[in-house]
Amino acid sequence: MKINGVKGMNDILPAQVGRWQEIERVARDVFALHGYREVRTPVVEPYALYARGVGEATDIVNKEMYVFEDKGEEKLALRPEGTAGTVRAFIEHGAYVEGPQKWFYVGPMFRRERPQKGRYRQFHQLGVEAFGIAEPAIDVEQIAMVAELFRRLSVTASLQVNSVGDAACRPAYLEELRAWLRAHGGALCSDCRERTERNPLRVLDCKVPTCQPVLAEAPGLLERLCDGCRTHFDAVRQGLEDLGVPYRVNPRLVRGLDYYVRTAYEFTSDALGSQSAVVGGGRYDGLVETLGGPPTPGIGFGMGEERLALILEAAGRPVAENRPEVFLISADDVGRREVLRRAAALRRAGIACDLDARGGKLARQFKQAERVGARFAIVLGAAEAASGQAKLKDMATREETPVVLADLAGRLRPAAGA
Ligand code: ATP
Ligand code: MG
Repeated sequence: MKINGVKGMNDILPAQVGRWQEIERVARDVFALHGYREVRTPVVEPYALYARGVGEATDIVNKEMYVFEDKGEEKLALRPEGTAGTVRAFIEHGAYVEGPQKWFYVGPMFRRERPQKGRYRQFHQLGVEAFGIAEPAIDVEQIAMVAELFRRLSVTASLQVNSVGDAACRPAYLEELRAWLRAHGGALCSDCRERTERNPLRVLDCKVPTCQPVLAEAPGLLERLCDGCRTHFDAVRQGLEDLGVPYRVNPRLVRGLDYYVRTAYEFTSDALGSQSAVVGGGRYDGLVETLGGPPTPGIGFGMGEERLALILEAAGRPVAENRPEVFLISADDVGRREVLRRAAALRRAGIACDLDARGGKLARQFKQAERVGARFAIVLGAAEAASGQAKLKDMATREETPVVLADLAGRLRPAAGA
């Protein structure tokens, strides 16, 4: 019986995985350059962590999360995002006693959404969290870090920033907004009307075309920020300008999660169609305390790896593949032992090589050399073993050059990182 994978959960096959590896390599480099250290947390956490940390009024917890009882013992959830688990670990291990911390993570997230381009049920996020710094300087450094990551990947994405206020200015605004939304409910979609009561800020983010012109007239939070939020936001904008990071202020930009305050930001790409967000980030100063830690400010982002891969693909960028430098072909029984021995020595010297472990006809082995994209091939048999010489064949030009076997490693290019 043939069993297929779960809908919306994708295999990343060897021919494609080079894209993921490139993204992760560049991201790890950039994160390290900025002082972020990796943390690995479980993909399963207590349901309560997300109910509390993400918020029961959010779509993520409400509709999208995979929840299960662990043999009747505890209600658990597959992680839908990385911040709550990272904060849980930060608190559980008392990392706050050491002062500010910059952490990053890479891994799969799970949301039961309708699968479509750029939206899957298992997807991967690269994310960072900076703990213990309330000052806008960290917001600026973190946003500029994303810009640098995109620069290194030669990807263009546009940055939007906003301030979603804090406990001082948001509650009064939410009441004003809710009253306005109720008064205009007739012109809004049913999702908007429902969210008016549950999560009014999220209404501003509605993508339904008929809602957008209506919502454009809604009262804006930016004009109602308290002094603290205003000063913070101005400093973030000034910092981005100082660093030459282009941005646009989008007063409708909100994060879907309850715990965000002040800075909210997003990077989007035209290459993605309607799922245009590739990075969503923001400040969550109350979250650590909400989850039982000491009051600790924080700011972080989550970046969708699949969406980044789609951008690279749309730009026509080739998938980097590891190709063998040389393919060792055996001519006879002596050759069959020889290729294994030589391959081991070459690999020890850091040279990527391959061979056809089936042995057999030369033509079939050459075909295999071509298929795996080897740069050179070399035939080894009793004659070559006796003379210590062979011919190195360039697979692209078909040109053959004599080579002394003892010098073979020196004639070949070591693999990257070897
Ligand atoms: P969207 O508005 O597209 O649903 P979101 O606000 O739910 O995004 P976040 O929770 O901020 O997204 O997650 C950060 C990033 O993770 C997104 O910008 C996106 O790149 C990626 N992402 C989120 N959900 C998915 C998904 N179901 N499939 C693939 N990538 C996703
Ligand atoms: Mg979503």
